[in-house]
Amino acid sequence: MFFLSGRSDDGAGLPSAVYGILAGTTHAVLPDSMPHPPASLPRRKSVGVKVGPILIGGGAPVVIQSMTNTDTADADATARQVQQLAATGSELVRVTVNTEEAAAQVARICEKLEARGCHVPVIGDFHYNGHKLLTGYPECAGALAKYRINPGNVGFGRKKDMQFATMIEKAIEYDKPVRIGVNWGSLDQELLTGMMDDNAKRTDPLDADDVMAEALIVSALSSAKRAEEIGLPRDHIVLSCKVSGVQKLIAVYRELAARCDYALHLGLTEAGMGSKGIVASTAAIGILLQEGIGDTIRISLTPEPGGDRTREVIVAQEILQTMGLRSFTPLVTACPGCGRTTSTFFQELADSIQAYVRTQMPIWREKYDGVEEMTLAVMGCVVNGPGESKHADIGISLPGTGETPSAPVFIDGKKVTTLRGDNIAGEFRRIVDEYVEKRFSGNRRP
Ligand code: SF4
Repeated sequence: MFFLSGRSDDGAGLPSAVYGILAGTTHAVLPDSMPHPPASLPRRKSVGVKVGPILIGGGAPVVIQSMTNTDTADADATARQVQQLAATGSELVRVTVNTEEAAAQVARICEKLEARGCHVPVIGDFHYNGHKLLTGYPECAGALAKYRINPGNVGFGRKKDMQFATMIEKAIEYDKPVRIGVNWGSLDQELLTGMMDDNAKRTDPLDADDVMAEALIVSALSSAKRAEEIGLPRDHIVLSCKVSGVQKLIAVYRELAARCDYALHLGLTEAGMGSKGIVASTAAIGILLQEGIGDTIRISLTPEPGGDRTREVIVAQEILQTMGLRSFTPLVTACPGCGRTTSTFFQELADSIQAYVRTQMPIWREKYDGVEEMTLAVMGCVVNGPGESKHADIGISLPGTGETPSAPVFIDGKKVTTLRGDNIAGEFRRIVDEYVEKRFSGNRRP
């Protein structure tokens, strides 16, 4: 059987990264008695799909992708947002291609990105009229690195098959991979109705929700089979079956993963806004990744008014990094604070250090290999401060209420200095800079 279950003895323990590296979550330390995680989690084997230079599946690290929310017909705004998402760490960026005006601008968007030195592969999201747009706008079909096709939104009856076939033929003609992206909000109604009717005739009919879950999987797998019959190679196909409920998503993907070896795109659709969207996405995607399921992820957060679209990329990075699957940026451990920290100073320091390492990362990344794996700790008092700080590469233990106004700093587990006075934050940043230069300068990129 190709599927390597993540429920091995090795995978039983929580990743140590979960303990103590999420800013503001905990000062817990992984006890020696707890099972330590494997160096890498077992992964489901999948057929690798090249999207431009990026490999999805086939043993590659889990790829982060995101989607713009600009009007694609506005080439300037869309290119700007694609660039922002890519600069934040999105390795693939999807844009909606919903109108002729949008399709006409796709090649312009890609040219603008290239001119700015941004080489991120751009994916086109098609619904209803994709067959017409890919046919009528060859520049668009050629410029995109991948097409997303929703089999529930390609037409009805015989037209559905013809229009789906047209899109697949365009993918073959331009040698582009395709994601067959099924979504329960736009599930193929003919397929669902037929399966519901068949279910009603059973002596032991299934729950309607289970029939819908099965219809999602059948829609994805039968569409992939059809695409292969038309001539699209297996290594040009990625599948997704998105729903908006955590338990349902986990159940659907477990089943989908067990039935095929296509590369899988994970995402909780319509995850929502703010902490709800982050928590729901993390719960669903984290469990699947722990079981080795998923080759690329997208976190579908609804931005708050005026909110930053790049947040979905940061959340995706933090999920992968806190699970120990990939490293992107040094993470800051910070205690949650309590009655022992009546001032906000340590919160401000934790926040400023997290912001500092994030802003420094584009510079550090160019100069130093491995700097993204550095760990920092900013702790609020003497109770757990020194202990937690010793576990980080660099840690600082700030004085709690009533403690002597001094802040011991630990490097590689040893106390190296004690900071005092009004410029503790500035001094600590200088120490971080010196540590990065000293430890990672030997890993300078050519
Ligand atoms: S201030 Fe001290 S006791 Fe309170 S959460 Fe932070 S480390 Fe723990």
